[in-house]
Amino acid sequence: MRKSLYAMKLEEIMETLKLEKKYQARIVRDNLVKGVTEFSKMTSLSKKDRERLAYDAMTSSVIEHQESASTVKLAIRLSDGMVIECVRLSDGKDRYTACLSSQVGCAMGCAFCKTGTMGLRRNLEPGEIIEQFVHLEKLGERISHVVFMGMGEPLNNFTSVMEAIHSLHDPEQFNISYRKITISTSGFVPGINKLTELELPIKLAVSLVTADDDKRNRIMRINRTYPLSELKKALISFQRHENKRITLEYCMLKDYNTGKEDAEKLRKFMSGMDALVNLIPWNPVEGMTFKSPDENEIKAFSNELKRLNINYSIRREKGRDISGACGQLASKIE
Ligand code: SAH
Ligand code: SF4
Repeated sequence: MRKSLYAMKLEEIMETLKLEKKYQARIVRDNLVKGVTEFSKMTSLSKKDRERLAYDAMTSSVIEHQESASTVKLAIRLSDGMVIECVRLSDGKDRYTACLSSQVGCAMGCAFCKTGTMGLRRNLEPGEIIEQFVHLEKLGERISHVVFMGMGEPLNNFTSVMEAIHSLHDPEQFNISYRKITISTSGFVPGINKLTELELPIKLAVSLVTADDDKRNRIMRINRTYPLSELKKALISFQRHENKRITLEYCMLKDYNTGKEDAEKLRKFMSGMDALVNLIPWNPVEGMTFKSPDENEIKAFSNELKRLNINYSIRREKGRDISGACGQLASKIE
């Protein structure tokens, strides 16, 4: 399995490509960051090196491209044949967001999520995470924001995700500020604590789904190990450092987590926390018995949140038609 040059230090690039000088590795890296991945096209390399390295540096390739109004979803084949997905979202203006996968599949097995049905196949390498970003930028627009909301639990692949973020942030590489990078977690408390210790202004989103322990236990296994009280403690201490607003993703499941008591429990969970609730009406996944809430149910619940002075937004699904929406990512082609 060839290792991706992305997210490598210059010394590693030198060693891997048998380059003699650091400046040559820098030429290679600058080209890679710009999306020039064939060595033959890296014109500032010597002719000898260009001929010696007559291949494409990408270790992954796009095998499927699906597009809807504001969303592009790519299926990407990794060097070992496994397939992951990533998505580019646009806000209709000039903001393009890359939604990246951190793992092939996911070990968490949340009952409402398609990725969860796959189980964990393997972690992604830092370079494989960056290559998703590069494939998405090759679509032609400069990407300004990154969210780890694709396949996998990013905090369960902490080191690789942080290495990828380092390279996305590095002003000599992709130059994306930490504030424009969001990690989404199902609530893996040790990972949140590790992130807190790094004291970086990276944003955090948590897939809360419900603020009722019993209900959460039933649909998110992680809650049996890290219940809401521990999750809350970790979030508050994360926030203490940078005072960063946390997003609580609330996947709305019809008649399950949208009642008045659910709103009240949410209010309690959020007390002492600066957080925004992002309501995501459940996107249908074949074979699952949950249902999407209808407009009335969405309205009633959001009115209840308003009444309780909870800040919220509603995520109108982009890309549902191409299964590029949340929780619908699972590789079918293998
Ligand atoms: N594993 C991380 C990152 C993946 S993000 C996490 O769970 O946070 C995936 C997001 O999509 C999560 O917020 C999850 O709650 C949401 N989600 C999963 N399945 C969904 C579905 N079928 N419809 C809508 N949202 C879903
Ligand atoms: Fe994994 Fe997140 Fe899906 Fe849960 S919601 S199974 S943690 S990807």
